Amino acid sequence: MTGLSDSFQRPINYLRISVTDRCNLRCVYCMPEEGVGLMSHKDILTYEEIYTVVKVAAGLGINKVRLTGGEPLVRLGLADLVKMLAGIAGIDDLSLTTNGILLAQHAAALKKAGLHRVNVSLDTLKPERFQKITRCGELQDTLKGIEVARAVGLNPVKINMVVMAGVNDDELVDFARKTVDDGWHVRFIEYMPVIADDPVATRLFSVKEMRKRIESLGKFEPWKVDVGNGPAKYFRLPGAKGTIGFITPVTEHFCYQCNRLRLTADGKLRPCLLSEQEIDLRGALRSGAPPQELKRLIEKAIASKPERHYLSEGKKQKGRPFSQVGG
Ligand code: SAM
Repeated sequence: MTGLSDSFQRPINYLRISVTDRCNLRCVYCMPEEGVGLMSHKDILTYEEIYTVVKVAAGLGINKVRLTGGEPLVRLGLADLVKMLAGIAGIDDLSLTTNGILLAQHAAALKKAGLHRVNVSLDTLKPERFQKITRCGELQDTLKGIEVARAVGLNPVKINMVVMAGVNDDELVDFARKTVDDGWHVRFIEYMPVIADDPVATRLFSVKEMRKRIESLGKFEPWKVDVGNGPAKYFRLPGAKGTIGFITPVTEHFCYQCNRLRLTADGKLRPCLLSEQEIDLRGALRSGAPPQELKRLIEKAIASKPERHYLSEGKKQKGRPFSQVGG
């Protein structure tokens, strides 16, 4: 465990890294239809630069790393980065968050490179609705990605569903059934109103309402998961091999247990997803700063972690969209 903790005595041991701001989908709740302004390639951290940051962070006590984006699998040679990070002493949980579209073709190489597990974002099991929510994707590709990831052993594969009232809440029971029929590990996440002009902005469906729906399948029991036990509360339906998790970023924030830092694709360290504050590591990296200086900047980011976000009080995320910050 890390020796690092922030000014609210929260231990910090988890770094989420956005490896690209580019995405092959345009999910309605994440970006506007036209996409968002893209970073120039020269502004994006190289794999060597990411490696340097993780090595210093690991020396400080970070032991969990997750690669995200944008869509991490659209960045060329991601398995090379995984291999580099997997070799860093002290990193004992290396994972990936993906929309799964390209996962079938990369899963085996990622596993071989040293990736431990994946989370796959999937909000519907209906092909037409998938196209509507993602504005351009094919459900079959993500389902195939999930299947191959499980087969090559990137387990536990967790399926993350953002639940939106009037959009996909009618599929809660179908997803919950997958934990019984197919052993899926499904996490239901409250939709966060984070982008301006969001076409689904008013459609929060609370975890309280989700639980009521799913209880129609049977009484579920609290469950302790061994791997990646983050902000979700886990349960199991009778006879299920898989688990159900609930994540309540809006109705019951879990900031008091936040153990994360985020590194944006252009090398800014963000102490909180939902605050604008950023500390520039890229400048330091490119001006040849020694590890001691990077260490100081990481500690500064940790010391400036805000106590909590205020989404439930109606405050919006400020600054950059999720796709740039690494949701
Ligand atoms: N492209 C990858 C993916 O789809 O998993 C990684 C990046 S994506 C921004 C990371 C996660 O953020 C996804 O699970 C997505 O559903 C979630 N997300 C994006 N916007 C959200 C919102 N408004 N509310 C809740 N979750 C959101």
